[in-house]
Amino acid sequence: MKFLVTVPPVITPSEPPSGAFLLAAGLSARGIDAGFLDLSLEYFRYIFSQSPEGRGYPAVIPAMDYLLNNPHYTPQLHRTTTGVLNSSMKLFSKKFPGWKVTLMDLVPPVTVHQPLELDRICREGNTPFSGFWEEYLLPVLKQYEPETVLVSLSYLSQLTAGIDLVLFLRRAGYRVTAGGSLLNSLSRTGEGYELVRDVLPESCLGDGSIFPGFNSGSDPILSRLSWPNIAGGWNYISGRPVIPYALSTGCYWNRCLFCPDSSRKLAIYGHESFEKFISTIPSTVMEKNPVIHFVDSAIPGRALEDILPLLGQYRLDFYTFARPESWISRIADRLSESGCLMLQLGAESGSRSLLDRFEKGINPDTTLDILQKCSNTGIRTYVYFLQGLPGETDHDVKASVRFLEQAGNSIDFINFSIFNLPVNCELTDRASEFGIDLLDHDCPDSTIKLYRPFLYNGENPRIRARRAVSEDYAAIPSVAAALKRTPRWFRTSHFPLIEVPGRTS
Ligand code: SF4
Repeated sequence: MKFLVTVPPVITPSEPPSGAFLLAAGLSARGIDAGFLDLSLEYFRYIFSQSPEGRGYPAVIPAMDYLLNNPHYTPQLHRTTTGVLNSSMKLFSKKFPGWKVTLMDLVPPVTVHQPLELDRICREGNTPFSGFWEEYLLPVLKQYEPETVLVSLSYLSQLTAGIDLVLFLRRAGYRVTAGGSLLNSLSRTGEGYELVRDVLPESCLGDGSIFPGFNSGSDPILSRLSWPNIAGGWNYISGRPVIPYALSTGCYWNRCLFCPDSSRKLAIYGHESFEKFISTIPSTVMEKNPVIHFVDSAIPGRALEDILPLLGQYRLDFYTFARPESWISRIADRLSESGCLMLQLGAESGSRSLLDRFEKGINPDTTLDILQKCSNTGIRTYVYFLQGLPGETDHDVKASVRFLEQAGNSIDFINFSIFNLPVNCELTDRASEFGIDLLDHDCPDSTIKLYRPFLYNGENPRIRARRAVSEDYAAIPSVAAALKRTPRWFRTSHFPLIEVPGRTS
């Protein structure tokens, strides 16, 4: 095998991480002998498994049975069963004092923002991964004999295991390259890519085209995709296979002042690429009624509309993140008929003036209309609210309370996040125009920095925002119900499978 694209733990084991999966698919489409190995998924399965040494946890068996063998879940049983899996992770972590592994995160004994420290503790050995590399990974490497192992890092939660994995691969004599969206983000909107390179000199930036050496300008990796060779098989913990796919890269709006992605060029791949890809999905996966997860930053309406007949023809359900714009209301019926199980909508705030100030280009009235149309047509809605924007007033909070009350039961799942200012973005560059006082970082130079501390009018808006979430928003009965329904573990890939009265199953 020429390339083995791997994903180190920890990423939720319910669908393939999109960056690595699509890179392997892009290489395969070009006739390059490449495989995909999700080491995060296999790591969880390794921990959950029974073993003569007593590593297994018996309560895991019925929990896994429920999650693997049901095409949809009740909110309550989902909460119970995923809680069991996470408890088994806690028990496993106890064997490694100072470490904490959950279904979504890994906390090492040192700060995860300091690559040099991570490298040091990994070199000391006996990490929670050491046994897994030896027992699971080594035989797979011997089976495939890859010329190069590509280590894809998308989240900080993978950095520790990523460093440990590269150390292991070097010792075992394999050629390694590290890349992925975490490194790209650090170089674009954060600080710390050089710190990662100090411990992983094998790191590189870009969309992956660099590995086989073709030109990502004229032949972007996502323009041609075929189902990759999946080493280890399709073992995801989900009642239906969830397949990531991107109709576009970049964002067609590209104007929000605090966008973490603004330097990515827009490219839309469309109907032909998608049809070729779905024609390569193996029948064993198609038989299990898969769900397509469009991973676009903001799905382009026209491109989605173009492929609706194809989705219907192949009987593929789907979900995606969409900017709340009027085209959704216009085609909500067709979206639902074509298999749209859920839309993730960045409503952000109920205050139009606040949204306008940061050039979000969305209108709360339009969002309310979309929510209503979605719920009338059976499409689940997952609403993202962003609090603590610089300059947010009590008046803005009241507008948000009104918005949430009006939305009522049309919101099925909800996420409140508190605003962080990216180290590099247009808003940071223009901070003084917006009354933002940038503060110096209070951490050593050897620390990865994704966000910049700041004050607005001498205050930290995050404090007021937390209060608004817990006191104003969570007190609204429909919001409390949506919060209770929103799964804590396994996040979005399981959301379309959660039973909600009146929504399509
Ligand atoms: S919609 Fe999202 S991706 Fe697009 S510009 Fe705004 S923040 Fe960036």
